[in-house]
Amino acid sequence: MAERKLKRVDLDTLVSLSKRRGIVFQSSEIYGGVGSVWDYGPIGVELKRNVKNLWWQAMVRERDDIVGLDAAILMNPEVWAASGHISNFTDPMVECKKCHHRFRVDNIQGKACPDCAGELTEPRMFNLMFKTFMGAVEEEAAVVYLRPETAQGIFVNFSNVQQTTRRKLPFGIAQIGKSFRNEITPGNFIFRTREFEQMEMEFFCKPGTDEEWHRFWIHFSVDFFKRYGIRGEKLRVRHHEESELPHYSTGSADVEYEFPWGWGELETISDRTDFDLKAHMQRSGKDLSYFDEETKERYVPFVIEPAMGADRTALAFLADAYDEEEAAPAEGPGKAGDKRVVLRFHPDIAPVTVAVLPLSRNEKLVPTAKKVHDILRPLFNTQYDDSQSIGRRYRRQDEIGTPLCVTVDFETVEKDDSVTIRNRDLMTQVRVPIARLAEAVREQLDVMRKDCHG
Ligand code: ATP
Repeated sequence: MAERKLKRVDLDTLVSLSKRRGIVFQSSEIYGGVGSVWDYGPIGVELKRNVKNLWWQAMVRERDDIVGLDAAILMNPEVWAASGHISNFTDPMVECKKCHHRFRVDNIQGKACPDCAGELTEPRMFNLMFKTFMGAVEEEAAVVYLRPETAQGIFVNFSNVQQTTRRKLPFGIAQIGKSFRNEITPGNFIFRTREFEQMEMEFFCKPGTDEEWHRFWIHFSVDFFKRYGIRGEKLRVRHHEESELPHYSTGSADVEYEFPWGWGELETISDRTDFDLKAHMQRSGKDLSYFDEETKERYVPFVIEPAMGADRTALAFLADAYDEEEAAPAEGPGKAGDKRVVLRFHPDIAPVTVAVLPLSRNEKLVPTAKKVHDILRPLFNTQYDDSQSIGRRYRRQDEIGTPLCVTVDFETVEKDDSVTIRNRDLMTQVRVPIARLAEAVREQLDVMRKDCHG
């Protein structure tokens, strides 16, 4: 698959595939759901976990200049006063006087309600932070917020991390975790939700070197998506206009993906300057400056932030991997001309890497198939499946994007101690001795990795 000419897919197809195959379900579905909150099923949780693990690998484990952190969701409310989120993290919003639907002003054209043509209220500012209470008493003094970004947990820990790791600038702190925003117009499935996961890294550097690092982290981000299979032509970098910049930033660029409905932001790489550290210094009265041993200078570091959404990234991988083709009739159960839906995930993104399938549930085959599964499961993310016909099982694995299926048949147990490896993309079947299976699987995955590079 040197050239990846995949089918365009619409969002409804992805939503129904996600439900059918246990990728994403609507939250609290039996109660009619809850506004723009989604749950990841058994396949989706593996997909999203792969996204997060690969980001962590690329950011923290493969680099000498970045360390990790896992800060709490609840923070002292002073944090949000200092960061500007209490006063600035707002969207102008209008409400329809008739149907009471709310819209972000910048998302609507015209002066009437897009849903019922009713009259709209004057715009008012709406804070996107969720509020709750800490402790037993529900009073103003007990208000705490669910964090709307993970970044502040990093800023308030800057000195803790710098001093305990004895890091010299430049260095970064990375974190993955949940964030919450009471979005006025959420939507597009898991693209914009009210509870989501962010993968953020704050890179602390000397003032004056920030522009160069900003460029570096934009390239790094685009490379990450391509490395795991997103096609280059579906990605673009968009630099923000001055008027779009968040309150803390002097320069921002989005990495965008062409989703089924158009271009949408996957990640923002911002130059946050020394805004956050200075704001926390001022409000907390604590010194968060850095002493540069080499130049004997003391300064407040500048910060470059690549901020990526794990859910949006998972959606981009899903949309980018989607393909349909005419099914090979030999694999049944359908007729010639039937459609084969296949997710052509990069092997490291695929929720299941290898499926082990006995040809049938025959008592001769099952024990050997289980033994084969036991060989592979410590090495790869595997699934064992012996229900229904082999053709249906291949289809199921194609629909969740499993790169390789290993089939155990009568020849395996009666003749040659070998199994068949079926390749998702090429539909080739090669026979390998069980003794060489793990090695052969590794080799095939390596070839697929190269083919998937975006
Ligand atoms: P948007 O303009 O799309 O609302 P944003 O510019 O406010 O997003 P940032 O504050 O830059 O987003 O957050 C960094 C990343 O976090 C985004 O690029 C996105 O991937 C993710 N993200 C932000 N808001 C949401 C959300 N409501 N649902 C899912 N992911 C989100």
